[in-house]
Amino acid sequence: MIKLSNVTMQYAKSSRPALSDLSFEIDKGEFAFLIGPSGSGKSTFFRLLLKEDKPTSGEIEVGDFHVNTLRNRDVPKLRQSIGCVFQDFRLLQQKTVADNVAFALEVIGKPSSTIRDAVPETLEYVGLSGKADRMPFELSGGEMQRVAIARAIVNRPQLLLADEPTGNLDPETSEGIVEVLDRVNRRGTTVVMATHDRHIVDAMRRRVLEFDNGKLVRNDQYGVYGIG
Ligand code: ADP
Ligand code: ADP
Repeated sequence: MIKLSNVTMQYAKSSRPALSDLSFEIDKGEFAFLIGPSGSGKSTFFRLLLKEDKPTSGEIEVGDFHVNTLRNRDVPKLRQSIGCVFQDFRLLQQKTVADNVAFALEVIGKPSSTIRDAVPETLEYVGLSGKADRMPFELSGGEMQRVAIARAIVNRPQLLLADEPTGNLDPETSEGIVEVLDRVNRRGTTVVMATHDRHIVDAMRRRVLEFDNGKLVRNDQYGVYGIG
């Protein structure tokens, strides 16, 4: 699903590379944790997958997309195949829960009949059936993150990128969010989750990729957070 071959990313000539000669693969259907200290290159990796930045050198593949050579007019197709979830939820504050999720389908031109079915189905899937007409400010943090996940998966992307999705949530709420991500993964979506949450990583025992200074320093199939 994701293949990096000798990827280096240097934002400025004078600076140290944010990613340095990275090569690894994440298979279709995997749930992978991305760990490493702040500044180790996790967000840069996500941005390169989305073609929000171009690597200085090296090759990137996401599913069938050859990201490096992808034409500008095809970049939206790549991005539509990748759902994204962030630490700060990024909901549209003036829209209801249902409209936040519907909007993701509207902007890619889905017919309203599809939207009518997919939105309630997806809200139920993430455990928010009764909240369709609420506004974001009426929700708890965990509920806001469920809305963000619903929005990210409603178009059934092949890949879901979650950048510290539990970073603003208490441990119990975080557990619920990871359960939802796990369910999404078991349905067939490849999930990559950047996190600092050792309890979640240790409880899940999935692939662990550890970055340090833009280098891959660990790639364990059934990993733990480690001593770091
Ligand atoms: P992480 O997500 O692990 O905290 P980042 O990918 O954000 O790491 O950062 C990796 C390195 O790249 C850091 O040294 C950071 O300062 C640098 N960096 C990140 N984004 C930019 C940018 N837009 N311009 C210049 N340097 C950047
Ligand atoms: P199944 O094994 O039947 O595919 P799932 O857990 O994948 O079970 O799905 C359970 C229900 O949730 C099904 O009705 C399915 O259509 C619905 N569902 C799953 N994923 C989504 C999604 N991204 N958007 C809307 N509905 C979904």
